[in-house]
Amino acid sequence: MAARARRILILGGTAEGRALASLLSAVPGVTAISSLAGRTKEPLMPEGETRSGGFGGVAGLAAYLREKAVDLVADATHPFAARISTNAATACAQTGVPYLRLERPAWEQLDGDDWHKVGDSAAAAAALDSGARVLAAVGGGELDPFLARGDIFLVARMIEPPQAPVPANCEIVLARPPFALEEELELMREKSITVLVAKNSGGAGYAKLVAARMLKVPVVMIARPPKPAAPMAATAEGMRNLILASR
Ligand code: NAP
Repeated sequence: MAARARRILILGGTAEGRALASLLSAVPGVTAISSLAGRTKEPLMPEGETRSGGFGGVAGLAAYLREKAVDLVADATHPFAARISTNAATACAQTGVPYLRLERPAWEQLDGDDWHKVGDSAAAAAALDSGARVLAAVGGGELDPFLARGDIFLVARMIEPPQAPVPANCEIVLARPPFALEEELELMREKSITVLVAKNSGGAGYAKLVAARMLKVPVVMIARPPKPAAPMAATAEGMRNLILASR
């Protein structure tokens, strides 16, 4: 009798998650299911089986792992998606399912960078000078502390328009990443940006930091939230190898 396919749950929502799904789809005897949070109306879909929407906390995820007979969870969520990672590590510990994490390396400050490191969005908003023209490279759900600063002008880039109207001191630029260096330079020049607020996501969004360095625009850099300890890989290929070695 043929052995049952090994079932891998990929927690995705990132380019690395999609790359891992493609790599695993080429491995015989492996079935990968990619899970998306379901926030983006038209997400880029990974190859293979997918599901969408929250699991319902730790209990919901633990039930899902049992019901779907998941053999391993590969957490490829964004470095700033802390809740799902904590939930996944806990649900895996409860169900005895191995939990591995794919995490792209954080960006490092280089010569010529003027970075002001802060712990979260609220601290980033508090660090801005009155009168600043801010490019806020944060998610649409994280704008509130910046919108609360009536003494700054905010340019916020989003994939989809915000649900609620934004105040007059905020301009929404609709665009889907990744952005080339030329696009970043043009946006910062065109909007007369005096400060960039960025999350230390790592990966393909680095062009905005190069643009800031070139234009001598200071950066308020939000540090990553802590994530649970786990066997880690930094790339999709590394994670595929870790998964295959963990048999
Ligand atoms: P979060 O705060 O860590 O998670 C909040 C809740 O959303 C989780 O408790 C879970 O709901 C649900 N969820 C999150 N990721 C999920 C997934 N891959 N599959 C199923 N449910 C998921 O996450 P977030 O920061 O809002 O990010 C949401 C998604 O967007 C993630 O998949 C992440 O990879 C992606 N993303 C996030 C960022 C960012 O800056 N945060 C940037 C780019 C992409 P339940 O408790 O109901 O299970």
